[in-house]
Amino acid sequence: MTLSRWLDPLPAPRPGLVGDVTCDVVVIGGGLTGVSAALRLAELGADAVLLEARQVAMSATGRNAGFILQGTAERYDRACALLGRARASEIHRWTLENHRRIAERVASLGLDCGYQRRGSLQLGDTPQEEHELRASARMLVEDGFEATLLEGDALPAVHRDAGYHLGLLLPGDGAVDPARFVRGLADAAHRAGARLYERTPVLTLDAAEAGAVVAHTPQGEVHAALAVVATNARVAELLPWFADKVDPVRGQMLATAPLPLRFDRPIYANHGYDYWRQDEAGRLVLGGWRNLDPETERSTEEILNDAIQARMTRFVACTFPDVDVRITHRWAGIMGFSRDGLPLVGPAPGAPGAVAGVGYTGHGFGFAALAGDALAELVLEGQHPFCEALRPRRLDY
Ligand SMILES: Cc1cc2nc3c(=O)[nH]c(=O)nc-3n(C[C@H](O)[C@H](O)[C@H](O)COP(=O)(O)OP(=O)(O)OC[C@H]3O[C@@H](n4cnc5c(N)ncnc54)[C@H](O)[C@@H]3O)c2cc1C
Repeated sequence: MTLSRWLDPLPAPRPGLVGDVTCDVVVIGGGLTGVSAALRLAELGADAVLLEARQVAMSATGRNAGFILQGTAERYDRACALLGRARASEIHRWTLENHRRIAERVASLGLDCGYQRRGSLQLGDTPQEEHELRASARMLVEDGFEATLLEGDALPAVHRDAGYHLGLLLPGDGAVDPARFVRGLADAAHRAGARLYERTPVLTLDAAEAGAVVAHTPQGEVHAALAVVATNARVAELLPWFADKVDPVRGQMLATAPLPLRFDRPIYANHGYDYWRQDEAGRLVLGGWRNLDPETERSTEEILNDAIQARMTRFVACTFPDVDVRITHRWAGIMGFSRDGLPLVGPAPGAPGAVAGVGYTGHGFGFAALAGDALAELVLEGQHPFCEALRPRRLDY
């Protein structure tokens, strides 16, 4: 197993579950989705228990780049073509609402988590990408979103020198240390009354009947009225309906020691395959290049891909040719890609006692804070428009 820059060092784990407990809602999975749900449930007065197989934020949530991006995994012009303009615009608005909630949590809880909101920049170096960036910028502005094209001298020299001619600036985007942020939410959930157990994998889940849900773990059972399943790429282990709807996809990342500041916001290039930023200390955090070896990277194992890591290392050397760069961390993480590229959030088909929030397709920090809140409200109040828009049942085929 690799350890990301955000997870190093790991805090001491919370105690695991020993014995049987009863609660209103059992939340399974301690990433951004599950922890957000547990916090919201506790805030709304529900008795919530969260079960995490490893430690909070130790999977995708603590292994990503920390980009908080608007929209789906597709550029806006393509999202409109694939989903229809009205649906693409509706989902885009939800992702802005997700970011608003993240910012509100950071402020209201006073979280020290490196949160920055300086926008993101999508770069293009081929005629096709430039065409897509121009189309996306025009359509975003037409639909009421903030977007600016940067070209000529307006595009920072560091990008022009690297061969890019055009950038699409989305000023509303941001970045965060994802592990510090989600650990902060977990502490808040605990303070609000949720019970969190780490190193407690759920082995099986009985959720055939709402009101009589049981989560079985190695040393105890949790009896609850309902379950929120937030286990990302492993969802089908507990909810088999998702088996052919969410696929595990591995991402490779590295981080360096602090460097002179050249990138002041998250950068997305090569159709989003390559991405990087410098954090508040100047450390370069870099990921991507999955398209070099897509077959190998269809995996549930958090292991390094030497060829992709070597390509990323070359990128760092070319980008900072004048600096003696020290790479401090290399790691891998597993994403859950849905079959239509959109998250699956809402009632779990085939399991009346469960709801699920999975399948963010590499963009969980654009959706999952809101998904956790929405799932909490869904189980307590019976509905939420976000769960209506992204209900899993749409992939019933
Ligand atoms: C390399 C990489 C880079 C990424 N970069 C970005 C980015 O910059 N921006 C962005 O928006 N998204 C990014 N993502 C995606 C983002 O990290 C995820 O979409 C998001 O973290 C998903 O959160 P989650 O809570 O749903 O899942 P996770 O964080 O994976 O949490 C699921 C949890 O469930 C636990 N679990 C699983 N099975 C069980 C079980 N049976 N019992 C108990 N617990 C269980 C796991 O241990 C895990 O902690 C990236 C992902 C990777 C891997």
